[in-house]
Amino acid sequence: MKRVRRKLLQRRQAILMISIVVFMGMVWLIYALSSPISGNRITTSGESTVSLNKNMATPQEVSKRYKIVIDAGHGGKDPGAEGASGNRERAYTLALSTKVYDLLQQEPIFEAYRTRTDDTFVKLKDRAQIANDLDADAFVSIHGNTYSGLDVSGTETYYYADESFLFASEVHEQLAEATGFKDRGVKKESLGVLKLSNNLAILLELGFLTNPSDETNMLSEVHQNRTAQAIVRGIKKYFVDREG
Ligand SMILES: [Zn+2]
Repeated sequence: MKRVRRKLLQRRQAILMISIVVFMGMVWLIYALSSPISGNRITTSGESTVSLNKNMATPQEVSKRYKIVIDAGHGGKDPGAEGASGNRERAYTLALSTKVYDLLQQEPIFEAYRTRTDDTFVKLKDRAQIANDLDADAFVSIHGNTYSGLDVSGTETYYYADESFLFASEVHEQLAEATGFKDRGVKKESLGVLKLSNNLAILLELGFLTNPSDETNMLSEVHQNRTAQAIVRGIKKYFVDREG
């Protein structure tokens, strides 16, 4: 009689265990079927979750915004070069700088600043200081070139600190193509505004205002837009490539 009772007890325990296992299985099955997203997440490796997030990231979700200071050369009592037609460099640099600034403003990875927004005189050291105070990532000074001979033409880009060479090269590459002028290359020069800058700093001599052909192009809206786009493309290329 005792044996029978023990057997019965063992059977009951076995049924109970099986019931629990079946119940747990059903709960898991219901959970897995009702939440396919959760199921996916469980089976997705960490790596692919990261790449999914990367793909979903919008341009607004940039990790870093680079501060770019655009410097329109000359201004106010300092008119700069006198162009072949009598136009002054200060007006050209302001027009082009404004275009570059506007384009940078449209790029989520950039925070754009200007050393001047109208025809005012700003000292060289104040121009560099604006960038230094902001701890800007890059300072880009915009100029039109001048020479005594009318036939001299072309685009050149200056840098001073060796750290600025790659940046100068990236911008110049885009620029030389966009202006369509003779490519006069990237040059190292001890220019005041570059020497005073703590961060990346370049000075662009877009073309020779003293050359009638360069000047006609430089004063045209179409050429300025193309040039401004090239400058922004070069800046972007440098910072995006560096980010990897
Ligand atoms: Zn100048």
